[in-house]
Amino acid sequence: MYNPQSLRAEEFIDHDEIMSTLEFADKHCGDAAFIDGILDKARLRKGLDHREAATLLSCTLPEKTAALYALAEQIKKDFYGNRIVLFAPLYLSNYCVNSCLYCPYHRQNRHMPRKKLSQEDIVAEVTALQDMGHKRLAIEAGEDPAMNPLEYILESIATIYSVRHRNGSIRRVNVNIAATTVEDYRKLKEAQIGTYILFQETYHKESYARLHPAGPKHDYAWHTEAMDRAMQGGIDDVGLGVLFGLESWRYEFTALLMHAEHLEAVHGVGPHTISVPRVKKADGIDPGSFDNGLDDDIFARICACIRLAVPYTGMIISTRESQAVREKVIRLGVSQISGASRTSVGGYADPTPEDEDSAQFDVSDRRSLDEVVAWLMGMDFIPSFCTACYRQGRTGDRFMSLCKSGQILNCCHPNALMTLKEYLEDYASPDTRALGEALIARELEKVPSAHVREIARRNIAAIAQGKRDFRF
Ligand code: SAM
Repeated sequence: MYNPQSLRAEEFIDHDEIMSTLEFADKHCGDAAFIDGILDKARLRKGLDHREAATLLSCTLPEKTAALYALAEQIKKDFYGNRIVLFAPLYLSNYCVNSCLYCPYHRQNRHMPRKKLSQEDIVAEVTALQDMGHKRLAIEAGEDPAMNPLEYILESIATIYSVRHRNGSIRRVNVNIAATTVEDYRKLKEAQIGTYILFQETYHKESYARLHPAGPKHDYAWHTEAMDRAMQGGIDDVGLGVLFGLESWRYEFTALLMHAEHLEAVHGVGPHTISVPRVKKADGIDPGSFDNGLDDDIFARICACIRLAVPYTGMIISTRESQAVREKVIRLGVSQISGASRTSVGGYADPTPEDEDSAQFDVSDRRSLDEVVAWLMGMDFIPSFCTACYRQGRTGDRFMSLCKSGQILNCCHPNALMTLKEYLEDYASPDTRALGEALIARELEKVPSAHVREIARRNIAAIAQGKRDFRF
């Protein structure tokens, strides 16, 4: 029985509720008046439930699609302005005891060179990332209790935070590691992680079992209930995601929103972020073999519908996607992107090109961070290296209330500009720097409070004089 408040995976991600939602969507998706009603509700900026969102996603009436995209763009602007937060993944270890059919880390892959970073290696990686200008990382590791125990992850986080290279520092470490216990989540919280990210891969229980034939990840309930344990362990910023392409995208989309509704119902706070990875070619992995691929148009629709359904939830897109796709979905709702990513263990300190044997998946966007920053500014976006919220204790519902209070332009906007200024001073090429200085001058004027604007202006001048790390 469907019950969003239940702590049992099969009840809050109820298969029958998903199937009946898809029937409901089929019945109403061609009804222009019904779709208008959903769009009107979305205009209130309080979100949509999974039935409404699934119906909107299924609607192919051209004029409604245009309205959907226009509204997604508007909501994106209202909640996130023109800021795009930048981050990089850091792969710690590709040892893994699981057998995920879509991932080259699976344990049967005997020719993939296995590697785990030592603490010295991590210093080298973080130094290279700081030299690019990164301030926010997402650490990634395979699941291997013997090779990558939690103690290793905790030690690595401490090392990452300790590296101070020139003016660099990593100020937020998000963590993408396998589902674990409440006790372990408590330790991750104590290690001052930002968001705990775990992709569901697929919400379809039978497909999940087939795609994860062995290893601890085989357990659907353990994996699906992980975010509840994370929240019980005190982590209130959690990041959901589906690996699109494994199962039917309408099924996954509906279940993803049911998961968000469940977190809100039980913990009073929805997901901090939603990631939208698509399965990519990798060593021994052919995305075509999963038979559920989605084209770029459907992908863009999914992003737009997520934006309307959960306006307060950040949306993340990685370098799995090409520049062209990223350009499209950034406008429709994506708020965070990775830049200059390497998906092999040790890939930042080692400048040789990544080979297919060691990368986790093929990266489509291979530009440098400087190129990504210049590209964003060329489209009038503000590349932001801000990490202020969680360092100021604005996590979980406190972050949500900042969004809801309408104070973002007095807080996130100047923070983005100050961190961009640091980037320009320390890492940018001359052309990027010129673009950035002009953008900062323009965007400062948009800070509504004269008082905050003045402080931001003063701080930006101090950054030019060598001071660092201001935040509201
Ligand atoms: N081991 C952790 C776990 O089990 O959740 C997470 C780390 S894994 C390195 C990060 C994510 O990469 C996975 O959750 C999966 O969604 C994604 N991934 C794996 N293979 C992929 C592929 N071929 N293409 C795109 N993404 C992939």
